[in-house]
Amino acid sequence: YGLATYGNAGWLREQVCMYMCPYARFQSSMFDRDTLVISYDEKRGEPRGPLGKEPQERTGLGDCIDCTMCVQVCPTGIDIRKGLQYECIGCAACIDACDTVMDKIDKPRGLIRYTTENALQNGLSLAQIKKRALRPRVLIYGALLLLVVAVTFGSLLTRTSVKLDVLRDRGVMGREVEDGMIENVYRLQIMNTDEASHRFQILVDGIDTIKLATPNEVWLESTGSRILPLKIRVDHGKGKPGSNPIHIEVRAIDNDRMRTREKAVFFVPR
Ligand code: SF4
Ligand code: SF4
Repeated sequence: YGLATYGNAGWLREQVCMYMCPYARFQSSMFDRDTLVISYDEKRGEPRGPLGKEPQERTGLGDCIDCTMCVQVCPTGIDIRKGLQYECIGCAACIDACDTVMDKIDKPRGLIRYTTENALQNGLSLAQIKKRALRPRVLIYGALLLLVVAVTFGSLLTRTSVKLDVLRDRGVMGREVEDGMIENVYRLQIMNTDEASHRFQILVDGIDTIKLATPNEVWLESTGSRILPLKIRVDHGKGKPGSNPIHIEVRAIDNDRMRTREKAVFFVPR
């Protein structure tokens, strides 16, 4: 991670923004003429030219004095006066630089500003720009974003800090043991991803009389993992011959919300 940061920030720098970052590609597909972007006001700034002694009305020049401050401060090295370019990362450094220049030459700020293509072409006011904000594209993207946030929070809230893997011992199908009971053998991997240690209880259900023939409790350190052999038995005559679906559940004894359940198959010989 350190090496990647050093390479990206120390050596590649703006090449990351220009060629590697997916943000710019996303941007262009989501834009329309009413999207708020950083833009140069061409009508006000052009024709550009250095500030001379003659008044602006006589020279016919616009407000841009061609000082190139906006280009010099741009981290991706682009000239925003050529229009919006995909390399622009929206950092607004050019806005600040140009506002400082405007202050010095006693002109109104905002030659480079946040505005929309429509506003620049049709001279829309701030109120008109705001009115166009609630359009179908924005509402659909907003709804999709809300959905993603809700799913993310939902999965975080329902996340359980115990994980379980069940593997059947393929070498042993169902076998008859003492008292005529049928036994299947499994390998259980339990992981405690919680920050605290817990004692876990192992439960099994799915067939009448089903029970464990191995210890049904296990102690796991914080972030610990354990692989256990598990023997499950049912009384003779219970379950149909062949495969029977069962469930194996692991739950923390001191925290009822820490539980997980996995499907497994119990094999009864014909
Ligand atoms: S900083 Fe402003 S005035 Fe200077 S070149 Fe850029 S747009 Fe023109
Ligand atoms: S917003 Fe940042 S990246 Fe975009 S043109 Fe201005 S200075 Fe460059």
